[in-house]
Formats: sequence, structure tokens, C-alpha cells
Amino acid sequence: MTGERLKSPIVPTVPFDRDGKHHGFLRLPYSRNESAWGAIMIPITVIRNGDGPTALLTGANHGDEYEGPIALQVLSHEIAPDEIRGRIIIVPYMNYPAFRSATRVSSVDGMNLNRSFPGRADGSATQKIAHFFEEVLVPMADVVLDYHSGGKTLDFLPFACAHHLEAQGQQEACVAAVRAFNAPFSLMLREIDAVGMYDTSVEAHGKVFVTTELGGGGTATARSAQIAIRGARNVLIHAGILDEEIDVAPSVMLDMPGDDCYHFATTEGLIQPMVDLGETVRRGDLLARVWPADQTGVAPHDCTAQRDGLLAARHFPGLIQMGDCLAVVASVLE
Ligand SMILES: [Zn+2]
Repeated sequence: MTGERLKSPIVPTVPFDRDGKHHGFLRLPYSRNESAWGAIMIPITVIRNGDGPTALLTGANHGDEYEGPIALQVLSHEIAPDEIRGRIIIVPYMNYPAFRSATRVSSVDGMNLNRSFPGRADGSATQKIAHFFEEVLVPMADVVLDYHSGGKTLDFLPFACAHHLEAQGQQEACVAAVRAFNAPFSLMLREIDAVGMYDTSVEAHGKVFVTTELGGGGTATARSAQIAIRGARNVLIHAGILDEEIDVAPSVMLDMPGDDCYHFATTEGLIQPMVDLGETVRRGDLLARVWPADQTGVAPHDCTAQRDGLLAARHFPGLIQMGDCLAVVASVLE
């Protein structure tokens, strides 16, 4: 269907064009049994000081990933308007229903926000959130930082990442912003399934986009939270919004040259990890053994590395199902 897109039902309670720091909500009407004229209230902070670039910072695109929400609460609390030039739009809990239920996908419609773009003004709650970002917030931004971590089912080396893009200049700008974020690792990410992702949508708008995977297991650590806070400040400095010196530490550049970086389980059972995150492997090395969950006396199923590299991600829970992502092996560029 083509034609003019419907207007979003979401109402911001904060101004986007007034100087100062404004805390409020994106009010999403949500009529239901418990509240006939009720709404989902998604927290938002807008900090503005005159003309200049706009950064859009988001966490909890998936509701069980915590480094982003922590960093964005810290920044929205700490950054004063007179420290910046331009504008910072902060949404710490992008998929708010998912965040409140500590689940990856929304508790009200079962949808994955990061597979719901460009969204629908007349869709479900998650589709309406996607649509509001697509039509209202992303167009305002020059640089977009969207935090992710592994959630309850994956664990990652802490990295910021960019994608390979057809527009060379845009890709270079994204990589420069990823380097500015300066996580311990920086990755050129190959997605399994890019359709409907916020990433794809932001990049299609021609914006500078940085995303991350900063840990996992459905929690944050002191270290991963600090990486998230420092990274956002660095991106704001890089964008010319915060006037400070970028805090630079070594970052290992990683690449995912082929789909064979991904290793998927072909059986279910109990995982015996044979390699930990950050360890190097050679093609053919054992990554994990999967033991039967229902009997003894049967040999385990061995999962071996499909390429040389370093273990960048792993399945987090102790049990695995057929088809789960068991491991990601990335190659070291420098
Ligand atoms: Zn995520």
C-alpha cells in the first residue's frame, strides 16, 4: 500500500525546540480492560542548548538489556544544558512494556521492536513505537546511538559496531563514530536478519549510526555499565555536542567476513563450553559440546569452529535448543 502515512498517535510531553533540560514522556494511548482511556508512558529527556547537531540515544530496544538504560539514566541526570551545543534526545526504555517485564519482546503484543520497523501508526503498541521513531525522532537526528547487549540468552564481548553500507561516506562516518565510542572491541557487524531492524531504518535515513553489544545474560556489570557511559559521552564529543576531550583507550577491530561466523545448534541439550569469550580459535577447534539432557551413556554432539578467529558471542543459558545461536566467531582485523 502506498500513499501518505498516518500521523502517529504518540504525544510527547516535552518540547524538542526549547533550550534547557526537559524530562517527560512519550504518551502512547493504550486502551485496555484495566484502563479504558489509559496510556503507555515512555520516559524521555530532551537537553538543548541553541542550534547544533542532534544526537538520539536509545536503550531497551530489547527489554532485557541493561547497559543502555543505565548509561542513559546517568547521562539524562548528569548532563546540563550549558555543557552542550545542539540537542540530545534520550529514550532509556525504548520498548517500555518489554523493559518493565524484563523480556526481549513486548509484554503487550509479543512483538520484537527491532523487527517492527518502519512500524505502523495504526498498528500494535510496538508497531506504533517503531513508527514514531521512524517518522518523528530519527529525522531530527544527525547521529543515533542504540544500545544492545545479549539479553537473557546471549553474552557478548563488549563491542560497538557498524554495518557494511553501500554509501561509502556514510559507512566511514559510522565507523568513525564507533571508534569514538571506543569500546574494548569494535566490530563490522553482519546481521542474520536485517529486515525490520531499527538499524536498517536509521541507516536508510542516511544517519550516522552506532550500535553496541556490551555484555549479556540479562544483567549488567560495573565494567559493562562504565563502558556504556563513557562510550556515549565519547560519541557526543565526536558529534560536537559535548565540549570535552575524547577519552581514548585501545580497541580491537573485529570483522565478520561471512555467514559462517554464526554457529547454530543442531541438537538440544546441556552445553559444556570449551572456549570462553575473547579466546582465539582455529577452524575445527571445539567451541562447545552438547550433552543429552535426558540420558547418560551417549556421546556429546561436538560443535566446532567454522573459521579462525575469536569467540565474540555465546549462548548464555546452560541448556540449548535446536536452532539457537551457540557462538559467533569474529576475525581480528588489527
Ligand atoms: Zn538487543
